[in-house]
Amino acid sequence: MSVHKPKLPLVIITGASSGIGLATAKLFSERGHPLLLLARRLEIMNALHLPHSLCKAVDVTDRVKLLEAVQEAEGLYGAADAIINNAGIMLLGDITKQNPDEWDRMLEVNVKGLLNGIHTVAAAMVKRQRGTIINISSVAGRKSFANHVAYTATKFAVHGLSENLREEMAPHDVRVVTIAPGAVETELLSHTSDENIKAGYQDWKNNMGASVLSPEDVARAILYAYEQPQGVCIREIVLAATRQQA
Ligand code: NDP
Repeated sequence: MSVHKPKLPLVIITGASSGIGLATAKLFSERGHPLLLLARRLEIMNALHLPHSLCKAVDVTDRVKLLEAVQEAEGLYGAADAIINNAGIMLLGDITKQNPDEWDRMLEVNVKGLLNGIHTVAAAMVKRQRGTIINISSVAGRKSFANHVAYTATKFAVHGLSENLREEMAPHDVRVVTIAPGAVETELLSHTSDENIKAGYQDWKNNMGASVLSPEDVARAILYAYEQPQGVCIREIVLAATRQQA
């Protein structure tokens, strides 16, 4: 940890141990923000050695631990100016065969975990009349894809709750931003348990070749939205590889 106090405000990132969250953590750190990094795999976040960063092993479904982590970070770095609710899982499945436990897990993490993130900052942001809540949805939060029924349910929920939240935060000068990426090269697919569906999705991604989005591409979109003047709310960014048709 450096002895110099950072001048920029605290940014919270959930799911910072991999993919989009990890790339976003590096980018915001390069910009000089102190960070609260949250995910279950603590060692990966610690190994980043980002200055002015507090890393905590927190499951976003654990509302109490999440709140405690935010309070600890705010004690160190001051009030959180932004939260990037990025933690998520994608368990694709044929709805006639998929174990419903997988739906439950996705709803818990992608929807309730994201609401928990909002809960940790919303009241304080309203009080301060400032703040930015960035929710990571998906192109699957706007349209359907094969074998995506339950995942799509969670991402349509993210779009819906974000729009509602944006309307409710607007009078308080708190911005709500939805980021909806297409396919990104990350660990996301690896947790799908159906090997055939996984292989089919991988083929689809391979067909896009080297042009599939990188986590850094999405991180830049997040930073772009955040760095607009406070009076400008980029309500939604939908980004996908140029080669992605669907
Ligand atoms: P990764 O699997 O690479 O990263 C997911 C991150 O979420 C990890 O850091 C993981 O950390 C964390 N996470 C998962 N479950 C929990 C939990 N219960 N509590 C805390 N953290 C958790 O995937 P991506 O980077 O691709 O995914 C990030 C977001 O982007 C997700 O919301 C995803 O739906 C969305 N997205 C991704 C797309 C893609 O094609 N990759 C496309 C569109 C949207 P850990 O396991 O250490 O807890």
